[in-house]
Amino acid sequence: GEMHEIDYDFSMLIPPFAGVGLEAFDKDGKDITDKLFAPNKFLKVDADYTPRPFEEWSAADWPKTYQNPSYKNLFAVGIAFAPPHLISKPMSSPNGTPINPTPPRTGMPSAAMGKTVAKSIRDMIDGASEPTHEASMSEMGAACVVSTGSHIFKGSAATMTVYPVVPDYDKYPEYGRDLSLTFGEIGLAGHWMKYILHHAFIYQAKMKPGWTVMPD
Ligand SMILES: Cc1cc2nc3c(=O)[nH]c(=O)nc-3n(C[C@H](O)[C@H](O)[C@H](O)COP(=O)(O)OP(=O)(O)OC[C@H]3O[C@@H](n4cnc5c(N)ncnc54)[C@H](O)[C@@H]3O)c2cc1C
Repeated sequence: GEMHEIDYDFSMLIPPFAGVGLEAFDKDGKDITDKLFAPNKFLKVDADYTPRPFEEWSAADWPKTYQNPSYKNLFAVGIAFAPPHLISKPMSSPNGTPINPTPPRTGMPSAAMGKTVAKSIRDMIDGASEPTHEASMSEMGAACVVSTGSHIFKGSAATMTVYPVVPDYDKYPEYGRDLSLTFGEIGLAGHWMKYILHHAFIYQAKMKPGWTVMPD
């Protein structure tokens, strides 16, 4: 609740988190935006959107196939899908600023969802009537490496893993997460790891020889 000032070199302004605001119409021209999109403009998928208090939130609320319930040929992954609710208890600072941790649909979970949905769509094109693959954020882990200095010997990076991304208080009653798979560390090794990953990702993105056999 106190006000401070801090010097900085770079900053990032983060806008309110919302979808792009697409409008949808059926074949008769009727506006079906509310049917397809949640109020925050993200596409509705196979999540349980029943409004409930924090105490009743469950890992099972989270989508698995990312298929829209009304239109079976519509899917939304990564940033685009509407989460059922926040991932941790809504809080506010002493001066009233809301602190609402939004679900982190960062690179790794987004890629896992994308791959899962791509496989389901492939199988549906081949005749499956329903999505064949699942990737719930309450069952997947994620890793993140944040650069905190780029020098090859004096640089550092913070390396974090979290499992599962969405806390599951039924499986892990204390914190909702498996603490043997949830940790963070800062140091030079993290920077080297980020450096190697950076070049590996760009190699894969350019589809150079052997890119398909490299691990994601
Ligand atoms: C500054 C910044 C730093 C980040 N750092 C990290 C990090 O270190 N690690 C990490 O894991 N995550 C990081 N993230 C988050 C990560 O980049 C995103 O969570 C992730 O890219 C989301 O993937 P996505 O596929 O859902 O969306 P996007 O990657 O945003 O992909 C959406 C794509 O859709 C395209 N598109 C939009 N509209 C249309 C349209 N009408 N028609 C066709 N195409 C369209 C866009 O051009 C874009 O390519 C960072 C994000 C930001 C902004």
